[in-house]
Amino acid sequence: MRLVLLGPPGAGKGTQARMLEKRLNVPQVASGDLLRAAVRERTALGVEAKSYMDKGALVPDDLVFKLIDERLSRPDAAGGFILDGFPRTVAQAETLAEMLNARGGARLDKVVAIIVPDEEIVKRISGRRTCRNCGAMYHVIYDPPRNQDLCNNCNTELYQRDDDAEDTVRMRLEVYATSTRPLLEHYGRLGLLSEIDGIGSPEEIKERIFRALDRAGKPGKSQ
Ligand SMILES: [Zn+2]
Repeated sequence: MRLVLLGPPGAGKGTQARMLEKRLNVPQVASGDLLRAAVRERTALGVEAKSYMDKGALVPDDLVFKLIDERLSRPDAAGGFILDGFPRTVAQAETLAEMLNARGGARLDKVVAIIVPDEEIVKRISGRRTCRNCGAMYHVIYDPPRNQDLCNNCNTELYQRDDDAEDTVRMRLEVYATSTRPLLEHYGRLGLLSEIDGIGSPEEIKERIFRALDRAGKPGKSQ
């Protein structure tokens, strides 16, 4: 199964990708993790990527393509993969299709988009609180500390990371919506897209995704 997983920040994609890995027995390939690993391991691509990151510049697309191409050619990805964090644009999706096609005409089987309304994402992320001392994470509604604003482990004051501030979250959601809307339309036209309701427990969302994949696995049946 060759799968692309889409969803805004805070949609629970990482959790779902790990559950899918076990069920489908194919590796999760997260572009951000690949990049960090290449830099850490000082591979040729990693050294090149770092030169951009050190300048505060974006790592160019073609470098990310090379990293993904290399990852997908490893033996554990022969039976498929779960792509997470890539593609983000229609242009990247087209390059991915060419990349797969170059491997004996391989194609994507499915694109799963986890759909969560902006207000819900804002509630999830802007409620996060982090311990200044030990890094433990809490949520003011879903996972509050025993004592308000204090860490359960070390009694240190909790704070809100800049990344989790409401304004920042809304800006990231806007960027996501702008680039992803055309991407969803693109995969919709190709008949690959399943939109999954991302409200509910991780277990419930997992079941919805698995049902969508089961339908995808039965040729001749439209969804
Ligand atoms: Zn703490």
